[in-house]
Amino acid sequence: MTVPTPADEAPICSARGCRASAVWALRWNNPRLHTPERRKTWLACPEHRTSLGDFLDARGFLREVSALPGSHTLEA
Ligand SMILES: [Zn+2]
Repeated sequence: MTVPTPADEAPICSARGCRASAVWALRWNNPRLHTPERRKTWLACPEHRTSLGDFLDARGFLREVSALPGSHTLEA
C-alpha cells in the first residue's frame, strides 16, 4: 500500500481547518527565528488571504504576497 501524493494536486489553504484551494502565497520571515533571506510560505484561499496576511503583518513578519502560478480561481 502506498499513499497517493499526486504532484499536481491543487494546493490547499494553510488556515486551520480550511480545505479550500489556495490562490495566494504569503511569504514571511520571523527575524527572531530566521535569517533575513529565509522565506516561509503560507498558502491562502481568497477567504483567508486577509486574515492570514493580517496575522503576519501585525507581527511584522509579512514580506510579500503573490498569486500562485497556474491558478484559475482569481476571478473572485
Ligand atoms: Zn482558507
